[in-house]
Amino acid sequence: MRFTRLRLNGFKSFVDPTDLVIHDGLTGVVGPNGCGKSNLLEALRWVMGENRPTAMRGGGMEDVIFAGASSRPARNFAEVSLHIDNADRLAPAAFNEHDQIEIVRRITRDAGSAYKAAGKDVRARDVQMLFADASTGAHSPALVRQGQISELINAKPTARRRILEEAAGISGLYQRRHEAELK
Ligand code: ATP
Ligand code: MG
Repeated sequence: MRFTRLRLNGFKSFVDPTDLVIHDGLTGVVGPNGCGKSNLLEALRWVMGENRPTAMRGGGMEDVIFAGASSRPARNFAEVSLHIDNADRLAPAAFNEHDQIEIVRRITRDAGSAYKAAGKDVRARDVQMLFADASTGAHSPALVRQGQISELINAKPTARRRILEEAAGISGLYQRRHEAELK
């Protein structure tokens, strides 16, 4: 699975619609402090189903919505869309017939988040599982936040084990076993 495009609208400092084409190979994002580099990575994490406000550097989930600036009023919603190239057919069966999959997450004030995958309404869990099986996703060790390396060094052994399990790609299996045990 390869990410090919990230679109933001009303997400954090990206108040105007922003369309980012992700080419093959390495992509660098450069800019002065506070220009929104970390917000871009947070948008990627968020569209993959991140539900921990702490991971989004906010107090609540609605803090991802553009909060207003001196010359611009606040927005009522935020939307992020991620295009995935599924040529390697790594997506779960429900989506695997598609060459390209678009995931959209939208949050509206007082109405929470809604997700779409390949044009269909889906649950947060469907989106999270789509990425968990491909060893990526909101909690993936492939996404390293600013300050996360020192957190990892200082982490307790159980927390460090969870990170290794994510890296090994087995956390999706744990999730399914947990749900099977609840049934
Ligand atoms: P650095 O180089 O210091 O790491 P950065 O490029 O990573 O900076 P970000 O942390 O992505 O910058 O962006 C921070 C900016 O985003 C701040 O100016 C902050 O006010 C703005 N911001 C964050 N959340 C919102 C929001 N909900 N509405 C409007 N602006 C926001
Ligand atoms: Mg930053």
